[in-house]
Amino acid sequence: MSGVPQSHIAVEQWQGQPRVPLATLPTPLEKGPELTGGSRLWVKRDDLTGLGMGGNKVRKLEFLCGAAIIAGADCLITVGAGQSNHCRMTAAAGAVLGLETHLVLAGDRPHVMQGNQLLSQRFGAEQHFTGAGPAEWGMLEIARENLTDELTHQGLHPYSIPIGGSTAVGALGYIAAYREIVEQCLVLGISPSTIVCTSSSGGTHAGLVAGRAWLRALGTYEVVPRLLAIGVAKGVIAGFPSVRELATEALALAGLPGEVADDDIEVDGRWLGPDYAIPTEASQKASVWAAHAGAWVLDDVYTAKGMAGVLGNADDGRWTSNDDVIFIHTGGQPEVFVRHD
Ligand SMILES: *Cc1c(COP(=O)(O)O)cnc(C)c1O
Repeated sequence: MSGVPQSHIAVEQWQGQPRVPLATLPTPLEKGPELTGGSRLWVKRDDLTGLGMGGNKVRKLEFLCGAAIIAGADCLITVGAGQSNHCRMTAAAGAVLGLETHLVLAGDRPHVMQGNQLLSQRFGAEQHFTGAGPAEWGMLEIARENLTDELTHQGLHPYSIPIGGSTAVGALGYIAAYREIVEQCLVLGISPSTIVCTSSSGGTHAGLVAGRAWLRALGTYEVVPRLLAIGVAKGVIAGFPSVRELATEALALAGLPGEVADDDIEVDGRWLGPDYAIPTEASQKASVWAAHAGAWVLDDVYTAKGMAGVLGNADDGRWTSNDDVIFIHTGGQPEVFVRHD
């Protein structure tokens, strides 16, 4: 049996999908400056979801940890890049829920822990360094599966979470987030044309796409902004995982109506640069721009490239003075304090 009392669980009306309240919601939706072309920028502060210094993965973890507790898990396992925000937030969830947490990470054990690793250590997680390269996702996933087998063999009951928490269960968090954004827009009296998010393992984007398909099917909301994902990893730009499949699976899991069409999915891959986690000139400019424009602190791996995509699309003339554009700030701040040699 799990050490976590089931009274921790709130049950969403979505076919009883269990949800552990971990996030501070709703997150603020802040007004930003005007972009090139006269559109107005809004920033959805999902860097302020609270748990363990916040970020987008907390929304996914509410449902993932709900599933873990229902399954009677006594430990969490997940996987990521050396400075994975997802791993740090999973460690934070483990701390709050009293679940032993194991993280499978790229790279080697450093002499001095920094950023997300330092926080994961403080939250009490065990970090397993694989020596894998920064974007060797396949090798990392195999290492996660091996560790899951190993701990199961030792008599534990792990709940093992794939990279980025991007399963249908995790995506439920961003179905809920889409509705949260649309409700906030109603209160603010704005009708945004586009919601922009940064995409890497695809679950955030898939959840938002599913949320849009759901509200479109309900027909009660006049404005259902389309999604634009800025790809920050090669896989997601090449179409892996299939965002359409993941979104469809999440809707089915929640028992929600909605059809996801191919043209609901747009991934702009122009802002990645050489590879995952390698800053570009545009991303560095976007970081400085955001720091001056709203004191928004962006990270090099994700949100700076996402914001570079927002500024670049505005410069391309995608939006006019008729448009409100929402950028979801998905977090990543601990990476800002990491010194790379
Ligand atoms: C994980 C992450 C993303 C991307 O989310 P996915 O669901 O993996 O696509 C974006 N921004 C930050 C800061 C992240 O940690």
